[in-house]
Amino acid sequence: MKIIDLRSDTVTRPSKGMREFIASAEVGDDVFGDDPTVKNLEDRTAEVLGHEAALFVPSGTMANQVSLRALAMPGDEIICETGAHIFNYEVAGAAAISGIQLHPIGAANGILTSEIVEPLIRPEDIHDPRTAAIAIENSNNRAGGTVFPMEVIGDLRRLADQYKVKLYLDGARLWNAATYLGVKPSEIASKFDYVSVCFSKGLGAPIGSAIVSSRENIKKARRIRKMYGGGMRQVGLIAAGALYALENNYTRLGDDHKRAANLARLLSKSPFFLINPDTIQTNIVVIRLASGLNPDRFCQKLSHEKVLVVPFGENMIRAVAHLDVDDTDIEKAANIMLETADSPA
Ligand SMILES: *Cc1c(COP(=O)(O)O)cnc(C)c1O
Repeated sequence: MKIIDLRSDTVTRPSKGMREFIASAEVGDDVFGDDPTVKNLEDRTAEVLGHEAALFVPSGTMANQVSLRALAMPGDEIICETGAHIFNYEVAGAAAISGIQLHPIGAANGILTSEIVEPLIRPEDIHDPRTAAIAIENSNNRAGGTVFPMEVIGDLRRLADQYKVKLYLDGARLWNAATYLGVKPSEIASKFDYVSVCFSKGLGAPIGSAIVSSRENIKKARRIRKMYGGGMRQVGLIAAGALYALENNYTRLGDDHKRAANLARLLSKSPFFLINPDTIQTNIVVIRLASGLNPDRFCQKLSHEKVLVVPFGENMIRAVAHLDVDDTDIEKAANIMLETADSPA
């Protein structure tokens, strides 16, 4: 029986069409600026996101770390939400590599609003760190794939301008946020000074992320990427997968969202899973387990039944819909989860 892997949208494998496109990619030494496929990907990404320029990087973490370094000086502060990837899942890179102090604050559903942020912006005082930027994550992973309403982003932009701080978007799943809102990705991305996006999540490329910003900012980011060891040579082979993903897999993201909602709906019928299907906005389903079900043990039991999901903090698990699961897989996974929850330990 096939394993139904819902651990993350990063687990997808390149399709035959993607592999063929990769195999035929023209390449050159990208550190010399000679790789035409990387250039195509960067130009196309900048265009799709409504910015002047883009920089291809190996991972979302490097995209964030290069951007943070470009946004702030050692001793500066960046405001983010408590669940943020940059705060929780990057091995304290902002502090360790860039000397940046992250200033996290909680927000309902991960939606950091201007009302929450404004009191945290530091005054000009000799004692205070300088607030360099406000960082948000859209969609918000920890909060369960939640999406920022456009008005909230507009307010944050005005706040950032008022206080002369930068606005940063960790847009690993910006594609999903735009799909949910029914807007072009550029409508969201153009409101930010720097944006990072992943090609290896919902879009299904094997590797790769990008940063977009102004031409000047990307020139600076390119030097930082080199410093971090992210200057790559015939990387068109990898950029080709990302380009293929961007051109072919964006319009299907709505299917993942429907499947995530369906999974939530099927599970919500059981008292073991505390989830309101109406709260599912994108491809991520965060489920609270009823007391008596331990997340680690439950995930392990499920894995014996060939369904993979991940523990996600106290009493929680996470399942993610993606390119490599269909409607039948979701129904099967839901049934196995219901049976496993119901079976004696
Ligand atoms: C996955 C993810 C990243 C980092 O991506 P990697 O490629 O795994 O380094 C950054 N931000 C968010 C919100 C993510 O979900």
